Amino acid sequence: MPLKRGIGVSSGVVIGDALVLETEEARVPRRIVPDDQIDQERSLLDRAFEAARVQIAQERERFAERGGTELADIFAFHERWLEDPKPRKEIAYLIETKAYSAAYAISIFMRRYRRRFAEMGTPFLQERAKDVQDIERRLLHTVGGQTRQTLEELHEPAVIIAHDLTPSQLVALERTKRLLGFATDAGGTTSHTAIIAAGLGIPAVVGLEDITSSVSSGDTLVIDGLHGVVVINPTNDQLERYARDVDHLQEVRATLEELRELSAQTKDGTKVELLGNIEFPLEIKDCLQKGATGIGLFRTEFLFMQDNHSPSEDEQFEIYRQAVNVVGNRPLVIRTMDLGGDKCQPDGSWDAERNPFLGLRSIRYSLQNLSMFRAQLRAIVRASAYGDVRVMFPLISRIMELRQAKFVLSLVAEDLEQDGYEFRSDIPVGVMIETPAAAICARELARETDFMSIGTNDLIQYTLAVDRTNERVAQLYTPADPSILRLLRGVVRDARRCRTAISLCGEMAGDPLFTILLVGMGLRTLSMAAGNIPRVKKIIRSITLADAERVKRRVMSFETEREVLNYLRDETRKVWDDI
Ligand code: PEP
Ligand code: MG
Repeated sequence: MPLKRGIGVSSGVVIGDALVLETEEARVPRRIVPDDQIDQERSLLDRAFEAARVQIAQERERFAERGGTELADIFAFHERWLEDPKPRKEIAYLIETKAYSAAYAISIFMRRYRRRFAEMGTPFLQERAKDVQDIERRLLHTVGGQTRQTLEELHEPAVIIAHDLTPSQLVALERTKRLLGFATDAGGTTSHTAIIAAGLGIPAVVGLEDITSSVSSGDTLVIDGLHGVVVINPTNDQLERYARDVDHLQEVRATLEELRELSAQTKDGTKVELLGNIEFPLEIKDCLQKGATGIGLFRTEFLFMQDNHSPSEDEQFEIYRQAVNVVGNRPLVIRTMDLGGDKCQPDGSWDAERNPFLGLRSIRYSLQNLSMFRAQLRAIVRASAYGDVRVMFPLISRIMELRQAKFVLSLVAEDLEQDGYEFRSDIPVGVMIETPAAAICARELARETDFMSIGTNDLIQYTLAVDRTNERVAQLYTPADPSILRLLRGVVRDARRCRTAISLCGEMAGDPLFTILLVGMGLRTLSMAAGNIPRVKKIIRSITLADAERVKRRVMSFETEREVLNYLRDETRKVWDDI
C-alpha cells in the first residue's frame, strides 16, 4: 500500500480516517501529462461530468420524493450547470492546449469560475459560489478520488490532511477534540505548527510534499510521527503491525511515567534542570505531570494570534497570574511576543513581507509597537508579584536592542511603582540567542543579562540559511551541523565565563539524540515540549558526566553532520535502545 515519507514531528502513532482540508493554498497539484495521455485525461473529464450528473439527478429525485422542493431546486442548478457544454469545453481546452491533468484543469477552471460568482454583488449569486465548489468536489472525486473540505467540517474524529496548517488552525482543530493526527505537504521540524503538535502530543508528519493529492477524505491512514511515515489504506498486515507499535509506545510511555518523580541527574550526580515549553497556559499542567521543574519558555505571541484580538494589559495580567498560580514557586520564563515570521496575527492587519523571517519580527516588532510592548511588560511585571516570573526577549541580534528593551522595562517598572503596584523589583531579565550575531557576541549579551537561552530553531535557520518551515530544504536543516555545534559550544563557554545562567530551549533540547552531547557541552538547563521530558530524563539518568564529555569531545572533531548523527545514534542506543 502507498507509503509516504516525510518529517515526523511528534512521537505517537495513530490510525484513523482521513479528512482532506480545503485551504486557499491547497490546490490540486499542477500536473502536466505526456502527449499520449491527453486523450485519456479528456475521457476522464467526460466520465467525471457524466458521473456527477447522474449522482445529482439521483439526489434531486430523492429530495423531491421527500417533498424538499427547495433542495431539489438547488440540485437542478447543479444539473443545468453540468449539462451546459461551455464549462466542459473550456476545461477540455486546458487539457488539450496545456497538457494539464484532468484534475488540475478542473481545479483551475472551477476556481476562476467560483471567484467570478463570489465577486458578484448579490447574496444569491454569491451563494452560488458554494454550489460551484460542490460541483468541483464531485468532479475531482471522480478524476482523482479527491474531495476537500473545510476546517469547520471536523464533526468526527479524523486525521487531517492539508497543504499546510497555520499554528492557529491547528489550535482551532485541537479545540474540537476530534483531531487524531495530521499530515501536511509543507513544513519542517521546527515550524511552529510542528512544535505545537509535539507539545500537545499529536502524531504528525510534515513536509510530505504531495500528501494532499495522494489521499482522499475517508481513506484509512496510519500516521507514524516517530518515523515520519504515512501509510494510505494499509493492508491488514500493516494495520496489525502498527497496532502493535501503538501498544509498544504505550508500554514505553508507561515505563517512562515511572521516572516522573525522580530527578534528572546523571549516574554520578550531575543535575540537569528540565523545564517545559508552552504556547498556552493550559499546557503547564501537562509539563508538570511529565516532570518539568518549571516553565523555561512561554511563547506569549500565541495569545495575540487568537480570536482576531490582541489581549489588553489586564487580560494578559490575568493570564500570566493564573499561569504563575499553576507553576507554583517554580520558575516561569515569559518570553515577550515573538510575532512575525510564521506567527502573524490572524486579523489580516499584517502586511505580507518579502522575507518575513528577516523582516519586522519579534523584538523588532515590539520596539516599533511600543504601546503593545509596554502593555505586555506591565502585565508581566505585575504578575511577578505572585511567583518566580522571569522575562525574556526574543531574537536579539545586537546589544542596542537589548538595551532598548531593558530601558522600556525600567520605565514600565517606574510607572507601576508610581501607580502603587506590588512587583518584584529584581525580576530576572534574559535574552534568547537565536541569531549568529547574538551567538558570536554572546559574551557582551551575557554581561548585561541574568540568563540566556539558546533558541536553536532560529539559530539553525539563520546560520545555515535554511527556512525552518520550507519542506524543500528540510534535509539541509539540522542541529548536527558542525557550525551549529561550534556556536553552541562558544555560547555556553561565554555564558559560564560571565557567570550568566545558560539554557537551551529550541527543539534540539527535546531530541534525545542530542541529550548526551548537550550535557557534555555543559548545559544544565534544557527546556522542551512536555512530551519530550521523560525520554530526555531517561537518557540523563543512564549516563555519567565523563561519558557525556567524552562524547562531546569526539563529536566536536567531526566534519560532517552525518558523522555526528551516526555517532550520536550509536552512543545513545548504547544507553537506551528505545530511542
Ligand atoms: C527557537 O528559535 O529555538 C525558539 C525556541 O523560539 P521559536 O521556536 O518560538 O522561534
Ligand atoms: Mg525562535
